Amino acid sequence: MATNRTFTMIKPDAVENGHIGGILSMITEAGFRIVSLKLTQLTTADAKAFYAVHSERPFYGELVEFMSRGPIVAAILEKDNAVEEFRKLIGATNPADAVEGTIRKKYATSVGENAVHGSDSDENAKIEGDFFFN
Ligand code: UDP
Ligand code: MG
Repeated sequence: MATNRTFTMIKPDAVENGHIGGILSMITEAGFRIVSLKLTQLTTADAKAFYAVHSERPFYGELVEFMSRGPIVAAILEKDNAVEEFRKLIGATNPADAVEGTIRKKYATSVGENAVHGSDSDENAKIEGDFFFN
């Protein structure tokens, strides 16, 4: 059964480029309610742990460095069918493939620096939310 919560981060590239407000607007205008919200920064160890599932991928080192290089915004969002609806709103991992109207189409600069994170399952939404808010 679909849960009504998902987890997101506004990544360091989007924070550096001044897009916190623009992205939060897109999120709330799409009907998500912000349940928890904070500006924080991942340590190298935090980023390694958060993305541990990708530890064997070639981009892991770069991803960990990127995600820990500056502040991020972490948030828990609520909406019916939140995980799936939010993945639709953020768009494809690679902004070149992201459709018009998605957050990544508007704000992502590359497949690595792609502005936002969105949980990919109900189970991971819970794990990732608990990682930041406990
Ligand atoms: N990533 C990357 N290179 C790739 C694929 C992914 O740097 O070829 C980064 C990118 O920041 C992405 C994150 O690793 O958002 C996690 O990858 P995933 O496949 O889970 O994409 P997502 O779920 O974020 O769309
Ligand atoms: Mg993912």
